[in-house]
Amino acid sequence: MINRAIQGKEPEVFEYFLNTSKGVRWYQARIALIDNDRHSVSISVRNITDRKALENSLISAKMEAERASLAKSEFLSSMSHEFKTPLNAIMGFAQLLEIDTEASLNEFQKQSVKEIYKAGNHLLDLINKVLDLAKIETGKFDVVIKPVEIKPVLEASINLVKPLADLKGIAITAAYSGCENYCVAADQIRLKQVLLNIFSNAIKYSFDNGMVESSCQEFDGWLRLSIIDSGLGIPLEEQGKIFDPFFRASNINHLIEGTGIGLPVARELIELMGGNLGFDSQEGKGSHFWFELPLVHAGSAERMTKWITY
Ligand code: ADP
Repeated sequence: MINRAIQGKEPEVFEYFLNTSKGVRWYQARIALIDNDRHSVSISVRNITDRKALENSLISAKMEAERASLAKSEFLSSMSHEFKTPLNAIMGFAQLLEIDTEASLNEFQKQSVKEIYKAGNHLLDLINKVLDLAKIETGKFDVVIKPVEIKPVLEASINLVKPLADLKGIAITAAYSGCENYCVAADQIRLKQVLLNIFSNAIKYSFDNGMVESSCQEFDGWLRLSIIDSGLGIPLEEQGKIFDPFFRASNINHLIEGTGIGLPVARELIELMGGNLGFDSQEGKGSHFWFELPLVHAGSAERMTKWITY
């Protein structure tokens, strides 16, 4: 090392350990030429045993946390699969009751079957979201990135959430500011999933007769999609937790159906597609959720060849 320091111009810095009578001791040494005369060097050594012990304990704590997180994701994934089979049977038998012409149901029974369906669908939705989350966390999630026209996806999503908005007298608007024919690089199904989640939150957490406004903006090769509501907003002190799985803010009415998985999944999906998702919110005033995806101008065929499947 001394020779290397003499031959090179930069100081040599390295770590090494010694087996001492008191156990392993770690040191960091620095060897540098004095005045570049290539004859004398200065050597300084310091004991870094404590720092090494701390580093090692941090590394093992991190590995342990990662192992636990993976075990949790795998558990969620296998439990969700286990739930799906009996749930399908429950829904299937409810359907049989409904369509059985030989023993038709009375009004009360029909209503009960409807409730079984409603609860079943809710549970199925929850299971699918947990499965998505577990798949994302274990890196087993597939997205197929292709150019996707923004306007049809946005319109289809608005049409799907409109009945929910109508029930609360909420008007939904879409402004394209010249981006009507633009395409983004995205997985169409997952993009729609994200839009549906943000739109349905904007409606769920809005006051009756409110407004939900969506708009698109182009900047530096990106398309930013914004969804603004005039609803409950999110308390400032809870905004840092909003992407934690299963977190729901304290200001919402807990009778509103929800699981706290939609937003974490939405953010992971947008990041898997190479974009960003964020929000600004003011309690009592409303929220602005937005995401950005790489822009592709419609019909740019040569770029179509590069689309990636993860
Ligand atoms: P869910 O709506 O199923 O509870 P999400 O993960 O989609 O789960 O959202 C997490 C939490 O973030 C919600 O429970 C709610 O407290 C808050 N939130 C999300 N979107 C909005 C919004 N537009 N306005 C107010 N609060 C919101």
